[in-house]
This record gives sequence, structure tokens and C-alpha cells, in this order.
Amino acid sequence: MAADTTVTRFAPSPTGRLHLGHAYSAWIAWSQAAADGGRFLLRIEDIDQGRCRPEFEDGIVEDLRWLGLTWETPVRRQSDHLEDYITALGRLRDRGLIYPCFCTRKDIAAEIAAAGHAPHGPDGPLYPGTCRALDPARAEDRMAAGEAYALRLKTDAGAAMAGPLAWVDLDQGEQIARPELFGDVVLARKDTPTSYHLSVTTDDHIQGVTCVTRGQDLFEATHIHRLLQALLGLDTPVYRHHGLLAGPDGKRLAKRDKAETIESLRAGGHSPANVWAMAGVSAEAMP
Ligand code: GLU
Repeated sequence: MAADTTVTRFAPSPTGRLHLGHAYSAWIAWSQAAADGGRFLLRIEDIDQGRCRPEFEDGIVEDLRWLGLTWETPVRRQSDHLEDYITALGRLRDRGLIYPCFCTRKDIAAEIAAAGHAPHGPDGPLYPGTCRALDPARAEDRMAAGEAYALRLKTDAGAAMAGPLAWVDLDQGEQIARPELFGDVVLARKDTPTSYHLSVTTDDHIQGVTCVTRGQDLFEATHIHRLLQALLGLDTPVYRHHGLLAGPDGKRLAKRDKAETIESLRAGGHSPANVWAMAGVSAEAMP
């Protein structure tokens, strides 16, 4: 296989059935690989074990197959690879870049309210840094006592270590990485030894993904992913952040709004070609 083969992936979370927006997103990744004579992968992002269900994973595979998509096997399921994320965390720990955070959402809200203001990032108010100031010996005691904790990145220290960084969006051009927008992000949640940001960057590297395609809603997240790649010595893919499909009400399709699913469209008698057309994919371009 040539080193410059395009490798793309579709990486849904099995928290519900797929809707048209997912079909479109999967098609973007598939068609990019097809156009370049490359490889298309499917990855199941199921670190949120409270919300993910095996039957939704089965549903993803069933819907994508019905739509005519094919991908390379094996499919990587994140919950099968926690060791990879633990290894990455260890490397950041060795560089002094992570710290345990015992705060609950309530603690964070109270701290922000007491401060009277909080800088906002793409995901909401930034973490006020409460646990970063904890005495390490005291933090060790609390961990040893079994108190639940997350692990956060010292983002400013990491950015200083990494120096200036950039990444390329194929449609939107070169971007100067601004990881500081996110403040001290969670890299390991209280319930699982990883987070979206850590697992997605680790996996894209391990799977040799060369072109990450995903919705524009994740554009900003790439700033923090670029920093993690630099700190962990991971490859940096190029990116294509695509527009999000809107429903008849003009709002973007979302699982939580019970957007019409591929499953329900199929049950309603629609053909794959019909469904692709609804997702804005022409007959010539569909799989
Ligand atoms: N698992 C994410 C989602 O379902 C996508 C992650 C990504 O493509 O980077 O929104």
C-alpha cells in the first residue's frame, strides 16, 4: 500500500439510530476515500458506556450496509482499546501535563458563580482551574481514598511546550491551532479512562487515518486535537469539516430531537436511492 493512500473514517457513537445527517457524514468520508482510491473505515465511539447500547451499534452496521456502504474490517470499537488511551495518559503524566480533578458539575458552576464571570470556549464556560491548584500530596490522598476524579490537561503548559501549531482544513484552509480556547479539557472522565478528545486523536493515529471528515460542529475541537497530536507524537491528518444537514424546521438534525432515522425511512418504504437523495447525494455519487 502506498504511504500516501487516503484513509478516511466514519466514527459514530452508538447512542441512537442513524439519521440523514449521519448518512451524509458517512458518505463524505466514503466518497473522499473512493475519489482518491483510498480506504474507508468505520469506528464505533462507545466510551460513554452509560449512553451507548450494543443494539445501536448493530443498527449502525445494518443501516450503513442497507445504504450500500462498505468498509474495511475489523471495525475498531473504542471500549475494546482502553489500554491505548491509558498509555497516552501515562505519557502526558510523565511530562507533568495532567492533573486529577475532583470537581462535580455543581462545584464548577458554584466556582464560576462565585467568580462572577467565566471565559467561554466552544463547549461552554472554561474550567476555572480549581483542582489545578491542589497540593499534589492532598490530591494523592483523595485518590487513594477512592474519591472519583477526572484527569485534565494543563492546556497552556502543553501549548507552551509544543510551540506554534497549525492544521489544514481542505475546504477552509490552514488554521493556526488555538487549543487555549478550551482551557483545561478533560482527557479521562470520571467513569472511563479516556475522553472524546483523547480517544479520537489516538485512534486516528493508530488507524492511519490521513483525512478526518466530520461535521462543522467539531471544527473547533480540532484545535485541541492538534495539540494532543503534538504532545503525544501522533500523526496529523488533514481535515474536512462538512456542513450539517438541517431538518424541515431549519434546525440541524440531531438524535436527541428524534430526527427521522434511516430505520424509519426504510420501514416507510423508501429505497436507499431515495434516502441518499434526501441526504443531498445524487444518484451518480451514491455508493
Ligand atoms: N463520535 C463523534 C460523533 O458521533 C464523531 C467524532 C469525530 O468524527 O471526530 O459525533
